Amino acid sequence: METARPASHASSDSVRVTNPRGASPFVLTCDHASNFLPAEFGTLGLAVEDLSRHIAWDPGALPVAMRMAQALDATLVETRISRLVVDCNRPLDAPDLVPPVSETTAIPGNTGLTEKQRAARVALSWQPFHGAIEHIIEERLARGQETRLVSVHSFTPVYKGYDRPWHIGIIHDDDRRLASPLIAALKRLAGITVGVNEPYSPADRVYFTLERHARSRGLPCAMIEIRNDEISGETGQRKWADLLTGIFSDLEPQEARGSRSIAVGKSVQSAS
Ligand SMILES: [Zn+2]
Repeated sequence: METARPASHASSDSVRVTNPRGASPFVLTCDHASNFLPAEFGTLGLAVEDLSRHIAWDPGALPVAMRMAQALDATLVETRISRLVVDCNRPLDAPDLVPPVSETTAIPGNTGLTEKQRAARVALSWQPFHGAIEHIIEERLARGQETRLVSVHSFTPVYKGYDRPWHIGIIHDDDRRLASPLIAALKRLAGITVGVNEPYSPADRVYFTLERHARSRGLPCAMIEIRNDEISGETGQRKWADLLTGIFSDLEPQEARGSRSIAVGKSVQSAS
């Protein structure tokens, strides 16, 4: 018989929801939380050491998101299967939904798939993840709970030979209600280089989860990317989670697009 799970967790094999009735207006997602490959996929033809690289997941992102969720009393939805199987932060028609190549590494187990095999991967991980987010948001809206969606990711310090200078990046589209005060708050911190739509932007099709669940409903949203060498250990994970929790505790969306921020008390300085 299956052991009862704590009431604060609702799990399946491929998605986990922590604190589903969180009181915070923020709902967090961790789209690339895990590098787990179910046994049926073997190693997808990769060397075992490749499976711990960033191509398989966002190292450090989940512990940061988890600590933020606990501190903010926020709901967190996380994937539990590697993005190498199916990338939950991509639309179903994206060429890298099941990536044949990641950065410069070919993924043999992802080439030559039949439509049936692709559909099985979508059903295994993509649908449960998006179904869980959908359910959480619909429930919140039904009970009139304010909802802002934030996804937490991490990025590799060196990509295709290029050193990335940002410690953290905030990704947003033309709805900046959440991103603008968040970026302003981060830029007030000394010693932190903030990327704005770096190292990615919505043009790279990395904004999918937020487009699907927040933008489609007019909800404020933003995407956080933390450089993964900053959060490779517990000390860094705690530092960034606490720093972001402090910011999110006071973070209010701008009233309307293009208006001045109502969240920022002090004048904004550029830190990067
Ligand atoms: Zn990611």
